Amino acid sequence: RAKAAGRDRWAVFDEEMREQAMRILDLEADLRRAINGDNFVAHYQPIVRLRDRAVIGHEALLRWRHPTRGLLLPGDFIGLGEDNGLIEEVDWLMYGQVIARLAQGGEGYISINVSPRHFRTVDFADRLLRMIDTAGADPRRLRIEITEVALLDDVSRALRTLRTLRDHGVLAQLDDFGTGYSALSYLHRFPIECLKIDRSFVAGLSDRTENESVAVVRAIQALAGTLGIHTIGEGIENEQQAAVLCDLGCEHGQGYLLGRPAEQMSGQSPAATPG
Ligand code: C2E
Ligand code: MG
Ligand code: MG
Ligand code: MG
Repeated sequence: RAKAAGRDRWAVFDEEMREQAMRILDLEADLRRAINGDNFVAHYQPIVRLRDRAVIGHEALLRWRHPTRGLLLPGDFIGLGEDNGLIEEVDWLMYGQVIARLAQGGEGYISINVSPRHFRTVDFADRLLRMIDTAGADPRRLRIEITEVALLDDVSRALRTLRTLRDHGVLAQLDDFGTGYSALSYLHRFPIECLKIDRSFVAGLSDRTENESVAVVRAIQALAGTLGIHTIGEGIENEQQAAVLCDLGCEHGQGYLLGRPAEQMSGQSPAATPG
């Protein structure tokens, strides 16, 4: 009897494993199919100057309009796409959309996210620049967001890619800063326009106590000051976080408080001061 129960448990476990494996395979098949269609959309989240809430740019965030599952977030499928290399194709569809949008005119920059593996491909910079050129977009209005891993794996290639892009006007910002290596000694070697302070630290700024998050943000600000570059606080959800960031010298911010990702870009004029 005990043995039978044990077997049943394994049977249930097997069944769950099988179902999960099927779900992943389904999603992978869906992803392959989706790449041929008009299924990926960019949502745009405003990046503002904290002092007066003027919109200075937007981050483009990938969304997948899945035929049955609705609007999927990157977290739902990017891991999968990274494993099988499909994410690079999805990324190019996304970048094409963003660049076409830029070519229509407007103000402010749009930043695109580039995964480390994608950033390391040999012709990344050339292909991006060609795309910008073909579309007739202003390269100075496009920025890339990369994480530290993308820099450190192959330093000389990363340098070459960043310099090529910068020489053509495309600046780079370091995403999720503070969560990676934060190997401070190397940062000055790279042409980086700004550091995006990871939202895990911003989350810790909800009160005015001198906690670890405050210490980390202070350190990042000191580093940025030394390098002469800007910072953007990510994931700002309340006024307190915005105020503490401002006090610590962070000029720019992004987060639900300041604007949610949406298909439409918000206006470039200073936003009405909330509440
Ligand atoms: P990320 O580049 O750090 O983007 C910021 C993420 O934080 C976005 O999640 C955004 O919706 C979310 N966020 C913004 N404000 C707030 C806030 O106030 N509170 C909270 N809790 N979250 C906030 P999303 O859109 O789900 O994207 C997740 C990640 O997927 C991005 O993190 C980025 O690493 C990656 N990603 C997004 N678009 C692309 C893309 O086109 N290509 C590639 N390769 N990766 C992308
Ligand atoms: Mg980003
Ligand atoms: Mg980020
Ligand atoms: Mg992030």
